[in-house]
Amino acid sequence: MTIAIAHQTKTNERRGLALRIEGVGKTFTSAVGAVEALRPTSVDVAAGEFVCLLGPSGCGKSTLLSIVAGLEAATVGQVLAGQQSVSGPGNDRVLLFQDAALFPWLDVQRNVEFGLRQQGRPHAERAEIAQRLLTQVGLGGFERHFVHQLSGGMRQRVAIARALATNPRVLLMDEPFGALDALTRDQMHADLETLWAASGQTVLFVTHNVREAIALGDRVLVFSPRPGRIVHELRVALPRPRALEDHALVDMAAELLAVLRRAEL
Ligand code: ADP
Ligand code: MG
Repeated sequence: MTIAIAHQTKTNERRGLALRIEGVGKTFTSAVGAVEALRPTSVDVAAGEFVCLLGPSGCGKSTLLSIVAGLEAATVGQVLAGQQSVSGPGNDRVLLFQDAALFPWLDVQRNVEFGLRQQGRPHAERAEIAQRLLTQVGLGGFERHFVHQLSGGMRQRVAIARALATNPRVLLMDEPFGALDALTRDQMHADLETLWAASGQTVLFVTHNVREAIALGDRVLVFSPRPGRIVHELRVALPRPRALEDHALVDMAAELLAVLRRAEL
């Protein structure tokens, strides 16, 4: 994937707080009882920051992301996006899953244009934005393809282009590359990093993969097993782009894995 122009908007221009997670906790209650998914958790995320949420399955990572997305209500606490208290989904935040969840009846370009169409943006503008993003994610020439004609990696690229089309301030990614093979995932990491660096967007990225967290994050927040809470925070100062096999990255991953194992106790 190539990006013709390296935008200079990056992180420093839009400094400030993108997200403030204030004592957010979640207990699910049902007929069979209550499950505390997330202990009250507080995190500040700077504008333009790439933060990874790392923890074992069931520790409440997806729950926290859904609350930030406004799809799930917190039991306690609140999320501020910019200055606004989150009370539902908004154009400023987009959630991306492992399953790309594209519309099979729309071609690639119309999938990317979907949010723009909902916003009532004119045809020419929609087409121009979709074209630019599809080129950026390496899918120039696939505009008229349908979802079933694409590989898993390509579908995820379309999903990323669709998420970016409306230019959200915050990108919420829930194990987006979990279903991809190792080589495709490596390439997706590199491409996501390039897109993020060019856009200045804030990313909250959920993973249970230690190396993935270190490869991508400015900061990694480590969760304990359920009920989840943040037990460790790691700032990753390694230069970018990072390769999963870099020695410094591998060493850091080993240390972080030890932290995770201790959190299991
Ligand atoms: P993770 O994404 O870290 O794997 P989740 O946030 O999906 O964890 O889930 C955390 C806990 O909350 C799990 O025990 C899960 O079963 C429970 N949980 C998640 N969503 C619901 C729900 N809608 N109703 C009841 N329990 C839920
Ligand atoms: Mg999850």
